[in-house]
Amino acid sequence: MSAITVADLEGALARREFTYWYQPKISMVLGTLCGAEALIRWRRGDQGLVPPGAFIPLAEESGFITEITLGMLDTFARDTAALEREAPGLITSFNASARDIEDGRLLEALERRIERGELVAEATEVELTESAVIVADASFRGRLNRLRAHKVHLAMDDFGTGYSSIETLSALPFTAVKIDQGLVRRMEQSEKDATLVETSIRMGHRLGVEVVAEGIETEGVYRRLQAAGCGVGQGYWMGRPMPLPELLALAASGRSWPGGARGLVHMATLDHLEWRKALVDELLMLPPDREVPASFLRFAADSSECRLGRWYHGPGRQLAALEVYQDLAAPHDALHACGARIVAAARRGARVDDLLRELDELSLWSTQVIGCLHGVEHAMLLGARSLRQACSVAPVAVGDVTGARGEAAGAPQRRASRAVGASTSGGSQGPGRRRPSEAPASAPRTSPASLAPPSG
Ligand code: C2E
Ligand code: MG
Ligand code: MG
Repeated sequence: MSAITVADLEGALARREFTYWYQPKISMVLGTLCGAEALIRWRRGDQGLVPPGAFIPLAEESGFITEITLGMLDTFARDTAALEREAPGLITSFNASARDIEDGRLLEALERRIERGELVAEATEVELTESAVIVADASFRGRLNRLRAHKVHLAMDDFGTGYSSIETLSALPFTAVKIDQGLVRRMEQSEKDATLVETSIRMGHRLGVEVVAEGIETEGVYRRLQAAGCGVGQGYWMGRPMPLPELLALAASGRSWPGGARGLVHMATLDHLEWRKALVDELLMLPPDREVPASFLRFAADSSECRLGRWYHGPGRQLAALEVYQDLAAPHDALHACGARIVAAARRGARVDDLLRELDELSLWSTQVIGCLHGVEHAMLLGARSLRQACSVAPVAVGDVTGARGEAAGAPQRRASRAVGASTSGGSQGPGRRRPSEAPASAPRTSPASLAPPSG
């Protein structure tokens, strides 16, 4: 086969020989299809289907890539409309080069289609693939911010390769990172790579972006990523790229893969430990005569705004069927009440030595919170509906905790009576399309059995 030239690409675009195939993306929490990635294919006469690796690099080098990206928007809009009819709520992505963003036409074309209702912004994701380092200057950032203002999702592709740096991640408004498939594929052979992937998942969580792992080729890698809290997976083990009709059939089939929220519970546990550490660090680092800012008081007091609280009232709601999940609310509130007392005392000028008794109490509430989170994990492992007995630390009675809010209460371990019907306060997220790991507050109560890995 002779080398491909730019003229060949121009001809192919004019003759509409490019098409999209779609690779499914799976919510590793729910075990269901949550989206797809559009991957270009070239139907080249009698040479069959040409993969993007054979012509995208040339298209990028020559600058013709933007003509291709723009030329494919019709196909993308038509295909995603069909998908939306078959399976509403999925998020479909297409790949764009940095050049496409630098050239303002893509942004304008997307905005036009969104305004005309030809594209659903919340159902659309742009994956920024990079073969030249992104220069995240003000106009580049401004364009991505405009897309975000329309609620289009933005993913950094191939995170972990030389082309997508942490610096770019920090400078641009990404909503997702896609961990490079090379790293993911090597997870089973290399502990170092597995650690890098798991740490990237944690980093994504702390940054508040969705983490997508691509290149999942085995069940072992799938399960490990799931246990590490990865929200979305893509790879041959779940599904290869396929023509649109096959994707529509897959969406209609209701096929499922193993779902499990253990990784998210683990994240919540780490979130809690980090909150406590930040509180104590801040206290220890306060210069003697410095005023304690009001924001620190809010940080200590607000049990719905800390990351654990946001998890509890957001994605964690899918575990609301578990009683031990509900048991978490009371010690978590008490923990924050205790945190607020500590910070209030510090604002009145108390020194850390004077706060030790309160800090001891904080640790006890903290132990209860962690005990409940472990209980949630155990409940998922056992698939049991009610698992108070698996909660290694007895949850406190709601009445006792209410008391602890107002006055200097006794130490939490003395309140060993069990909460009865401790209710969860409902989340307040509005309607709209969410990533799968952001389950809506109104999510139906999921049966614990469906949350536990099938192997138990
Ligand atoms: P990408 O965006 O990172 O897409 C993922 C690639 O990995 C796809 O290859 C997909 O088929 C492959 N893949 C997914 N799961 C697995 C797995 O489990 N094992 C293995 N071995 N491979 C897996 P594909 O379709 O050949 O695309 C290659 C690259 O070409 C894409 O990487 C993307 O960078 C680029 N590309 C594809 N379509 C477009 C497009 O429309 N525009 C632009 N600018 N680039 C595109
Ligand atoms: Mg991609
Ligand atoms: Mg990629």
